[in-house]
Amino acid sequence: MKEELSILIKAQYPLIYLVTPEEQRAEQAIARIARTETQHQQVFVWTMTQGMVECGNEQTNPDRNQARNSTRHNTVSPEAAIKWVIQHEQAGLFIFKDLHDFITDPGVKRALRDAIASFKGTEKIIILMSPLQEIPIELEKEVVVLDYPLPNMAELNKVLDRHLDKTKTSRITTEVREKLLRAALGLTKDEAEKVYRKAYVKAGRLTQEEVDIILSEKKQLIRRNGILEYIEEDETLDAIGGLDELKKWLRQRSNAFTERAREYGLPQPKGMLILGVPGCGKSLIAKTTSRLWGLPILRLDMGRVYDGSMVGRSEANLRNALKTAESISPAILFIDELDKSFAGGTGSADSDGGTSSRIFGSFLTWMQEKTSPVFVMATANRIERLPGEFLRKGRFDEIFFVDLPTQQEREEIFRIHLCKRRDDIARFDLPQLATMSDGFSGAEIEQAIIAAMYEAFAQDREFVQIDIIAALKATLPLSRTMMEQVTALREWARQRARPAATATAEYQRMEF
Ligand code: ATP
Repeated sequence: MKEELSILIKAQYPLIYLVTPEEQRAEQAIARIARTETQHQQVFVWTMTQGMVECGNEQTNPDRNQARNSTRHNTVSPEAAIKWVIQHEQAGLFIFKDLHDFITDPGVKRALRDAIASFKGTEKIIILMSPLQEIPIELEKEVVVLDYPLPNMAELNKVLDRHLDKTKTSRITTEVREKLLRAALGLTKDEAEKVYRKAYVKAGRLTQEEVDIILSEKKQLIRRNGILEYIEEDETLDAIGGLDELKKWLRQRSNAFTERAREYGLPQPKGMLILGVPGCGKSLIAKTTSRLWGLPILRLDMGRVYDGSMVGRSEANLRNALKTAESISPAILFIDELDKSFAGGTGSADSDGGTSSRIFGSFLTWMQEKTSPVFVMATANRIERLPGEFLRKGRFDEIFFVDLPTQQEREEIFRIHLCKRRDDIARFDLPQLATMSDGFSGAEIEQAIIAAMYEAFAQDREFVQIDIIAALKATLPLSRTMMEQVTALREWARQRARPAATATAEYQRMEF
């Protein structure tokens, strides 16, 4: 991406919008490009507090300083600054910081368009640098948007080296170094410096244990971003009854993101869609995969991506979230209820000014083009609400269908949930419970056990088989209240999805 910035500058794109929260780092990179890759072009920086100031060598020439001060004075207003750029006689890169606050002003918009028109053949470039992307419609066609990437391992290595120097920390092993760097991926340079400092202050050194401190700091920072949530799951795949085919698929790919898998010539898995009846363990499967694969899992909350307060804000939210996920990859990006998240994706151009179609389009493009190892795990309950584009071959590595549990699976689910709560489960007749819970989902089985426990607890006694049976009888399972929906989903899945359980597969073959 940094090369892309240098290509755009060398190719004389007149208006570049650089989205980044890291002003200083990006400014340094631009100055470096100007110095080494162009004909030593001048770089100017505009801020609303300082006006237009030349970047670097400020202290060298007092006359120049005087001139600069008057430039500053006259160019505090964004419109005046842009006009100053138009009149400036030499080539140069003109960085405008946080112009997004002014960009909807008619005078500023007009001045920018005038500037672009006047730049032809002048080797002048305006770079708008801001943590937010706000582009008025009039400028959409003129501007090229670039996300400035977060620091990579090599850059973080420098941050860490500086920190080790400052704290006079003795040498650390290569293994610890790699862990410390990996732990800080996804943070800005300042944030990385901060977490290294904090881990050091807390522990007085930087070793293996401090990786946990850094990781927990990172979780805090990711939480603050508000759109991605770092999920921690203690359960393993064994906490899920049935779904043997799906589990096998996941176990086979436990080491899919390792160097060894790359050397073997395997492609990185892209993602999976788990389709199925509500409460049958789809989300639980996604969360436990994180432990199985040893990768962090981030939930993308699409509800928070949408932000109607400003044009372009929702797109910027999505881009930032995906960028963060990529920067801490290999990672799992979990999207629960994909059908709800993108329900309006294809047809709501009129209802929200096209935002949901654009968000949907950006997400699909990202899925298609992503090269970083972010595995997308999505779940969905309603096939008719899911835009067809998601179901096209090749979008996901596999689409699994999770049906209601069979007799044998229900027995297993009862065993799992009873074992979690009691040691002596031999007193329960599991086959009978499984028979009595025909049509129940895993979540409903768990709820029946909890209801039975409440009942017995209220009577100050231990819960027994009959309490669970009573709770089952008192429940009308979703499969009955939503019979039509479940049948439609099964029909669809029969031909297009892979069954998550062998038993479901057999059942499906029997029917046809
Ligand atoms: P929804 O579509 O409503 O989000 P879901 O299919 O994602 O539902 P989960 O949220 O994973 O279902 O299930 C809810 C809870 O039900 C789980 O946390 C787990 O305790 C229990 N559960 C569901 N299915 C199973 C299963 N196969 N084995 C064990 N527990 C299960």
